[in-house]
Amino acid sequence: MATFGIDLGTTHSCIAYVDESTRPVIAKSAIGEDTTPSVVYFERPGVALVGTAAKNSALLAPHLVAQLVKRDMGRSGVEFTYHRERYTPEKISALVLRELARAAEENTGLPVRDVVITVPAYFGIAEREATRRAGEIAGLNVLDVLAEPVAAALHHHAVDETPGTRHVLVYDLGGGTFDTTVIRVSGDDVQVVCTDGDGELGGADWDQRIVEHLLSTFRDAHPNLDPSADDLAVQEFTDRAEEVKKALSATMSRNVALRFGGAAVNVRFTRELLEELTADLLDRTAAITERIVETARRKGVDRFDEVLLAGGMTRMPVVAAALQARFGLSPRLSEPDLAVAKGAALFALIRQAKSTRGAARQLGITEADAAAMAKKRVSTVVPRAFGVKAVDPRDPLALTDPMRARQMVAHLLQANTRLPADTGPYPFQTAIDNQRMVEIEVWEQAGPTPSEELADNTKIGHGMLTGIPARPAGCRIEVTFAMSETGELTVHAKELETGNDVRFELNIGGADRGTIAKARTDIAGHSVSG
Ligand code: AMP
Repeated sequence: MATFGIDLGTTHSCIAYVDESTRPVIAKSAIGEDTTPSVVYFERPGVALVGTAAKNSALLAPHLVAQLVKRDMGRSGVEFTYHRERYTPEKISALVLRELARAAEENTGLPVRDVVITVPAYFGIAEREATRRAGEIAGLNVLDVLAEPVAAALHHHAVDETPGTRHVLVYDLGGGTFDTTVIRVSGDDVQVVCTDGDGELGGADWDQRIVEHLLSTFRDAHPNLDPSADDLAVQEFTDRAEEVKKALSATMSRNVALRFGGAAVNVRFTRELLEELTADLLDRTAAITERIVETARRKGVDRFDEVLLAGGMTRMPVVAAALQARFGLSPRLSEPDLAVAKGAALFALIRQAKSTRGAARQLGITEADAAAMAKKRVSTVVPRAFGVKAVDPRDPLALTDPMRARQMVAHLLQANTRLPADTGPYPFQTAIDNQRMVEIEVWEQAGPTPSEELADNTKIGHGMLTGIPARPAGCRIEVTFAMSETGELTVHAKELETGNDVRFELNIGGADRGTIAKARTDIAGHSVSG
């Protein structure tokens, strides 16, 4: 029984497993490719095409095609409608996962059941849970969700076991997201030091800039024609844009032939022009990289032994050049679009080797390899700060009129704390006289840096502490947060007068078992092919 690692990417996905000699191997797509476009074409009710065929269909029927849904994972209330049926981002992702699993089974002859799915390192708890749910809806057993850079580092470490402690900076620019992570690798330990990123910055933004240029060049040549008003033309220009972007990683210039409304324009594109049109996007990745270098420095890491590039976009020569020029780092590019899936497959194997009796036999590897895998330790950090909503004690109204006083998020668990983490009890108090219950609202940092403003945080769950005795305001309450190694948050609130207790695990995104089961039945009823 093999375990699989899945890189569920914004634009492309990839699935890998570990062979008998513990070497990670890519399971090819239906058409024999290493990666599968994360695109779903809803051909007819209950019939979905996934991958390259779906991407090609986007030209014919863009309104029946779902893409870039990773950007909406974990956002409540987002739904898409195809053939009158409603789909959440999780359900669409589940269709992508089903096709990955189906093609992998067909091509490897191995059943795909136990999987690890990767997520960007800075993904919040709601996005992680949505990813886990997508796997469950696809009928898979999700062993864990793993941060992409950790997966990339695991793979890299497996192929290059230089002894001693090393610090690796992972720069991961994918189709829709950017993240950067500092990892300490030492013997059997792979540990995340800190992580940062931007969920709305990736290859699709580069493509968009090229599209804008193509559209304006076309309009200059034919002022009475406007392809931007035509969905099909925009889709076609977007495909051309991605093609030229990729080509310019290998060559210095390229001609793009555009046709619309009976007219044709030939646009000459150079690497220089591409870099000029997208310089600010690259600068944004550099600013985030600067920020993480600074965070790492505060955590005692002042030099990097290695810079690892992940994500298809890092094939652009300007990426390595910029890292070299700004940080004096010379990056390594090794299988940037496959390393994450391969690392996830290794992680799945490590998980199984640790938790399963007779793992070697079950996983089809030697006892020695199973023991070596079980020894490996992978630890990560809290991706973002977590806290509870409270009345700001510095506001004078807190004493006289607490209902009107400023509300804020008091962060108990700071970003980049090593997991598992326990904050210990934090003191709070009731705000009004005779307050018999307290609602504990749990909020997560939403922006790139922690802030106590409600607007900069997202509410992710809540629980009710009841049975407080009738007392004047100021009744003492303690709140403790604990986060497990795999990112599950448990909140414990205790009222100290009577010792009343609430402890709750967060139900993120409001999806209960019944909703997941129903979604799973819906998706199982679809015919999916690549
Ligand atoms: P990922 O999500 O990591 O698979 O990254 C896919 C992104 O990388 C997409 O935006 C692709 O257009 C882009 N990409 C793939 N290959 C290349 C290449 N050779 N040069 C530039 N970008 C590429």
